[in-house]
Amino acid sequence: MTAADKQTTADSLDRQLADLDLSERLALVSRLSGRAVFTTSLGIEDQVITAAIGLARLPITVSTLETGRLFKETFDLIGETEERFGMVIERFVPEQADIDAYAAKYGLNGFYDSVEARHACCHVRKLKPLARALDGASIWVTGLRRGQSGNRASTPFAEYDAERDLIKVNPLADWSIEDINAYVEREAVPTNPLHKRGYPSIGCEPCTRAIKPGEPERAGRWWWENDEKRECGLHVAEAAATSAIPTPA
Ligand code: SF4
Repeated sequence: MTAADKQTTADSLDRQLADLDLSERLALVSRLSGRAVFTTSLGIEDQVITAAIGLARLPITVSTLETGRLFKETFDLIGETEERFGMVIERFVPEQADIDAYAAKYGLNGFYDSVEARHACCHVRKLKPLARALDGASIWVTGLRRGQSGNRASTPFAEYDAERDLIKVNPLADWSIEDINAYVEREAVPTNPLHKRGYPSIGCEPCTRAIKPGEPERAGRWWWENDEKRECGLHVAEAAATSAIPTPA
């Protein structure tokens, strides 16, 4: 299928998904040709998608990026989720040579020192493992929601990701946090205990803090940076970040 064909398919899928509920959306995705991969951060939105896939036994691969800097609570939730839904969550870890090269250039926690150093760390610990997780996939399912941040306010149900040459599906795009909480309650979905301690969005431990009342959901991510649209690069074009990546020895 050419890039133009994938774009057309994504546009059509975007319209079809709008009228369906979550289980119907995922079932439709699972019937498309090619391998579908869902990447989970174990956050509450992703736990809803994992539950919907697991409860319906859908043929969608569930993968996570084990960055090596996750909270213990997140790490523990991987096993608990596998047990609850009788599934295996594929784990993708960074290459040790990449981590060593990063540490030599920036220091292990060099991400606090500059945006360049932070993007370089996310590249090594997240983006490169993500590329392996999506290798051979035709469909990438994510837990993005429009209400998570201004940066995500126009998230479509489906779009063609030209950088990765696959169709990206966001089946929770129009869900509110209240919808998420209701699903979690109804299906007894295991969630990260950190959510109840002020962490609506959870990433790596050194780069996530609890938010204060009234702050945006993602205010605790890379809180020391000033850019209000800060992301790790998983869901935006990588742009300048790659130029900062040290070459592993
Ligand atoms: S979130 Fe922080 S620790 Fe995790 S990969 Fe990005 S910079 Fe590194």
